[in-house]
Amino acid sequence: MQELTHYMNGEHVKGTSGRFADVFNPATGEVQAKVPLANADEMAKAVEIAAAAQPTWAATNPQRRARVMMKFVSLLNRDMDKLAEALSREHGKTLPDAAGDVQRGLEVVEYCIGAPELLKGDYTDGAGPGIDMYSMKQPLGVSAGITPFNFPAMIPMWMFAPAIACGNAFILKPSERDPSVPLMLAELMEEAGLPKGILQVVNGDKEAVDAILDHPVIQSVGFVGSTPIAEYIYGRGCSNGKRVQCFGGAKNHMIIMPDADMDQAADALIGAGYGAAGERCMAISVAVPVGEETADKLIEKLVPRIEKLKVGPYTSGNDVDYGPVVTSAAKANIERLVQTGVDQGAELVVDGRDFSLQGYEDGFFVGPHLFDKVTPDMDIYKYEIFGPVLSCVRAQTYEEALGLAMDHEMGNGTAIFTRDGDAARDFAARVNVGMIGINVPIPVPLAYHTFGGWKKSVFGDLNQHGPDAFKFYTRTKTVTSRWPSGIKEGGEFNFKPMD
Ligand code: NAD
Repeated sequence: MQELTHYMNGEHVKGTSGRFADVFNPATGEVQAKVPLANADEMAKAVEIAAAAQPTWAATNPQRRARVMMKFVSLLNRDMDKLAEALSREHGKTLPDAAGDVQRGLEVVEYCIGAPELLKGDYTDGAGPGIDMYSMKQPLGVSAGITPFNFPAMIPMWMFAPAIACGNAFILKPSERDPSVPLMLAELMEEAGLPKGILQVVNGDKEAVDAILDHPVIQSVGFVGSTPIAEYIYGRGCSNGKRVQCFGGAKNHMIIMPDADMDQAADALIGAGYGAAGERCMAISVAVPVGEETADKLIEKLVPRIEKLKVGPYTSGNDVDYGPVVTSAAKANIERLVQTGVDQGAELVVDGRDFSLQGYEDGFFVGPHLFDKVTPDMDIYKYEIFGPVLSCVRAQTYEEALGLAMDHEMGNGTAIFTRDGDAARDFAARVNVGMIGINVPIPVPLAYHTFGGWKKSVFGDLNQHGPDAFKFYTRTKTVTSRWPSGIKEGGEFNFKPMD
């Protein structure tokens, strides 16, 4: 049995807590590795190393820091297949989807190559007689990030790339479900020229997370995962005086107007609802057709497409639409919620409950499900299922459809499919959700924009990546300087506006 490690001070380090978690191959159900779960002492060691390394890194000019990012991008491209394979083996997603996971993280690293430009401060020449004023964007010191299982390459890079480009040291606590790719990323960053101790990976569970939240040296914490944990981390981190941003769960609605291209809408729903087995925070889990006729047409288009979906292990290459879910517990939770849908009266139009894959009977595969006539009081509507289950809620009017997206407690992403620019424009302006797609089902912003939901999908003020990340990982210091031309007349004791 492979025993995974932490990555500290440029070395793979064995866990010393004596606690481990199983890492599965979701396609076969086998335990393929054990990952150590750090205790507070191991976390404190990592923080000590980070704090000692960070000042020299912060003093390294931003262009040199950017060059590490440049090299890292080329190493990611060199190792793309290897990274995708390791990712699929632990997560279960298909190989092309795993490569996409790495690619979307890589794009944030590319953005961070612009650090010298992004870290420029403001300057006012002659704010008063002989007085100049300028601001600096300085790193925070030691930052930490806690990441979910569903994007084990992209989300760690969303955090550590800007943090490190800004001059911070970073401690990554990845998901214990799929920790191998984060460890590989840390190795690659060092191969790219990053000094030891600036990026460390400390594996663990709640104990390691609490050690991060309570450590006085850690200045900022980034979290992505489920909403209850996001809320917990935000509260405890903030009360300990840290800068914290937490991104939580989702329940993304896609509204289909009567004038939409129904084939285009159905194709979009298939990819957005079932891709990655629905284990995406930007997956569409609720389809809202407007009008009975639209709903009937949509269901008619969806059913044959769903029945054609190919579910299988990543080892089948490009010939698979989606793979298994991450654990047997995730599978059991999806099955439980599907049963509540049936019990509470939703119409199970496509029933994936008996799905089994020959040769992979112990894998965590879940067949595709489609529910029609779902209502907002049902559990399958209220809660995030995070599986290949699409719920159709029929709305009679546009206002009713908009109201559904607005009234749901989650507000990560949403989409509208229509040919009417006026409706699309109204939707984008009024809906209280963070990321909007117009005829685009998964509107994930590119690296140079920012990513973040609203409502219970987020706790904190700034979004991830893009310009917001450079704000989150720096602190502004403003310097007012006065040179002799302003003090020739003698001392000035009154506090007064510049003149
Ligand atoms: P999770 O909340 O179970 O775990 C996320 C991280 O928190 C992991 O590193 C885990 O070790 C840690 N953790 C788990 N339980 C903890 C506890 N009790 N105390 C402290 N730390 C704990 O989430 P997951 O299952 O890994 O990921 C799926 C969730 O993430 C979904 O809800 C999905 O919507 C969400 N997600 C959100 C975004 C976004 O940007 N909004 C992106 C991806 C995933």
